[in-house]
Amino acid sequence: MTTDAPDVALETGPHDEPHQGGISNRLNWLRAGVLGANDGIVSTAGLVMAVAAATDDTGTIAIAGVAGLAAGALSMGAGEYVSVSTQRDSEKALLAKERRELDEEPEEELAELAGIYVGKGLSEELARRVAQELTEHDALAAHAEAELGIDPDELTNPWDAAWASMLAFTVGALLPLLTITLVVADLRVAVTVGAVAVALALTGWSSARLGYGPTRPAVVRNVAGGAFAMAVTYAVGALLGSHIG
Ligand SMILES: [Zn+2]
Repeated sequence: MTTDAPDVALETGPHDEPHQGGISNRLNWLRAGVLGANDGIVSTAGLVMAVAAATDDTGTIAIAGVAGLAAGALSMGAGEYVSVSTQRDSEKALLAKERRELDEEPEEELAELAGIYVGKGLSEELARRVAQELTEHDALAAHAEAELGIDPDELTNPWDAAWASMLAFTVGALLPLLTITLVVADLRVAVTVGAVAVALALTGWSSARLGYGPTRPAVVRNVAGGAFAMAVTYAVGALLGSHIG
């Protein structure tokens, strides 16, 4: 393989963007993981902040935090399972329809595929050749990619998605849960706020990097969002604690 071959140029382009299924798929998982962790941090921090504002009792704070972690992780997992299952069902139905059409009217399907490449800028002749060669290689994969944007071999497994988001949420939730229960009463709110701010700066920075966006505004937004959530729930906890507790 020579260095000026076009496929090499594509693989090592100057911008280093994800352009192939494998890489962008892994990036999607990473992004989902960072978002899940972010969710775990913010929702658990908000929850324990409210309880800590209402009571000094470490046991009560711990029970609320653990319950919040479990409920949040299960809710994330179930939600992810449902949404990925639904998506997978519809992708499977679309693939089945495509398979049937390829079976019943291969000529029309070939013309349709060629038409897509003409629409993308290829000449009729070249589009026809591309369509023919792709069809000979793997007709279903070619149609799935061009018409549906689906890779038939890479459909997301709903269980994988569910476990991943539960795990990500749990990792995030553990941080505020541990600081609020392990740090001495006088300092636990301050230490938790500080730790959460640092963690949210990190998740904000990571998700901006993974999305090739500017990092500073992402960090500022993410930390501000978390600080706002903690301030509101702390106020709610203090208010309820003084009236009910
Ligand atoms: Zn088709």
